[in-house]
Amino acid sequence: VGPSKNPSYFLGFDVGGSFTKAVLIHVSGRPLQKETLSSTGFERKSYFAKSLKEVAGNLLLKEGVSASRLKGVGLGLPGPVDFDRGLVLSLTNIKGWKNFHIVSFLKSVFKVPVVVDNDANCMALAESRFGAAAGSKFALCVTLGTGVGGGLILNGSIHRGPFFLGGEIGHIPADVSGSACACGGKGCLELYVGNRAIAERVRRVFRRDISLEQASRLAAAGDPRARKIWRQTGWTIGCALAGIANVFGPQVIVVGGGVAQAGPVLLGSIRASLNCFLMRPLKNRILVKPARLGQEAGMLGAAILAKEFCVSRGK
Ligand SMILES: [Zn+2]
Repeated sequence: VGPSKNPSYFLGFDVGGSFTKAVLIHVSGRPLQKETLSSTGFERKSYFAKSLKEVAGNLLLKEGVSASRLKGVGLGLPGPVDFDRGLVLSLTNIKGWKNFHIVSFLKSVFKVPVVVDNDANCMALAESRFGAAAGSKFALCVTLGTGVGGGLILNGSIHRGPFFLGGEIGHIPADVSGSACACGGKGCLELYVGNRAIAERVRRVFRRDISLEQASRLAAAGDPRARKIWRQTGWTIGCALAGIANVFGPQVIVVGGGVAQAGPVLLGSIRASLNCFLMRPLKNRILVKPARLGQEAGMLGAAILAKEFCVSRGK
């Protein structure tokens, strides 16, 4: 990928339901320029293409890089994607994108290789290359929020599996007699540790609506009721993580997403629970670390994905 005098550049887009984040990276992986744009109107594909192209132009211009040095574009989407065919399998946030051949569409726009993956895989890739899991070939990244998602790094690569559903940590069964989940399963982890479930627990305990941010602050300040909520949440998460860790023995588990902001009480509880449920040879050997790249992990991962795709093909 180009001699150092003429380095290559890559673009990453983290396409969300409301906003899309874009980053231009150097071939070394260094992020250079960033921009956030609204995703409103993206259901119109021509407008979506025009918006991305415009942002790409802005970022290259700001960095003073000629368009010919752009060698690849990566996208992260909030839903399952057929990575090999570059196809959106389903997406609830943007209407009309189901079965959208997004890669071939964007290739004709950008005239460079384009790759697409789901956003949790992009986050996992970024954390594994430049974040909390850097240097570990086997890692599990989990994002806690309204949804509970994740990505598996196996021997340094994202594990996608033949159905492109690898890493759906939120849908690990956490209760044999649990109720039905929207995914088609039952008693899924997300039903117990997703934002909605935690908010419901907070409401029951405090008998009023307080935000999860407030509940985190209360816990940090030592409120025993708030601490108990986060401890229980962490215990459930740690148990599920131990289930996966016992199967593939990762070196590190990275915990990110909004709920992870609850801080030491949650992380401490996840660690205690994990080590309680792990098999003896794994106990106290798997690091549990907070995510390091925060909100930028998705776009960075998308750009890194494009870079690695191009490098592996010698383009
Ligand atoms: Zn489910």
